[in-house]
Amino acid sequence: MAAEQTSKTIEAYPMNGGDGVHSYANNSSYQGRVNNAAKRLITEAVVEILDIENLASSNTLRIADLGCSVGPNTFFAVQNIIEAVQFKYQCQGLDSQLPEFQVLFNDHTSNDFNTLFSSLPLDRKYYAAGVPGSFYSRLFPNASLHFVFSSFSIHWLSKVPKPVVDKSSSAWNKGRIHYPNSNDEVVKAYQAQYTEDMECFLHARAKEVVCGGLVALIIPGRPNGMHHPQSPTTVVLESCLMDMARKGIISEEKVDSFNLPLYLMSPQELEAAVDRNGYFSMERIITELGIITELGTVPETQRQKISSSLRAVFEGVIMAHFGYEILDELFDSFGKKFEVEFMRKTRLGSPSIFFALLKRKATN
Ligand code: SAH
Repeated sequence: MAAEQTSKTIEAYPMNGGDGVHSYANNSSYQGRVNNAAKRLITEAVVEILDIENLASSNTLRIADLGCSVGPNTFFAVQNIIEAVQFKYQCQGLDSQLPEFQVLFNDHTSNDFNTLFSSLPLDRKYYAAGVPGSFYSRLFPNASLHFVFSSFSIHWLSKVPKPVVDKSSSAWNKGRIHYPNSNDEVVKAYQAQYTEDMECFLHARAKEVVCGGLVALIIPGRPNGMHHPQSPTTVVLESCLMDMARKGIISEEKVDSFNLPLYLMSPQELEAAVDRNGYFSMERIITELGIITELGTVPETQRQKISSSLRAVFEGVIMAHFGYEILDELFDSFGKKFEVEFMRKTRLGSPSIFFALLKRKATN
């Protein structure tokens, strides 16, 4: 295995596993709704752009979902892709040549693959396999994938940028857990980490995706031209952690050294990364697939639900830094505070979600 194929050491904070009250499986309906909104775009991508005659010559069409978590969203997403391919074959009168499908479910090794596998749809029409490891490194053999999908995943950086936790650096992010409201040096450190990670992501995919193959991405990001917006959820999380530090439940130093490894890219930033990589053409960029603050439109009675949705996503990263003990209190106060902060959302700006479709160029 070439050096580039071995997994880099990275930080991994998978979503909450299992099917309990705070599990991702039971608290990802928002992401599911966005996936649903993208269904039409996926179908169009397959029908209008996927070159089935060339791609399925091996008679097996391989689909990978990068950052699949535990379902059910991943099952819905791969089903959409498969149905779109089947539809395309039918429309072209090629039913008899329909390929077999293999779906490769990827996530960090510590993802709850047991739950994923035990909830695979019984009526699935594909061969399923799990592929553990970071999508910022090689995961699959050369030219083996026909359709790569990833949703709500590549805004996770491979790690917190080092300078933001280095007290001697001008990018030390004291008192904050993310970059939007921090000084320029902090923002630059996050941007640099994003640039490096995206370069690795595209480099690996350029090797793995067959010429003519597609990469469809659903990305929590920010609109072009907008300064880095603060996500209401991070603002509230930060304020709840600071409250706990003030009460002496956790130390202020601990909060100072905590940063979320998330970056909200703009469509332009992604386009620039794709240009630099050179192996993909950008076929579609559809903005405003959803507004992240939509989470806040649920009624008060659903505060608990919001808190659980956030907990399903962030429990891992918080527990790794602060330990298990603070979780109940933290997410309880989060639920209570969220609504108040949400009212300020116009000041915060709105992170938004966009869809990008890349096609592997016919060059090696
Ligand atoms: N795609 C699903 C789940 C998104 S949750 C959905 O749309 O609902 C984000 C997932 O990305 C998590 O399971 C997390 O573990 C995974 N992830 C984040 N960084 C990753 C990386 N570098 N490599 C593989 N998986 C990663």
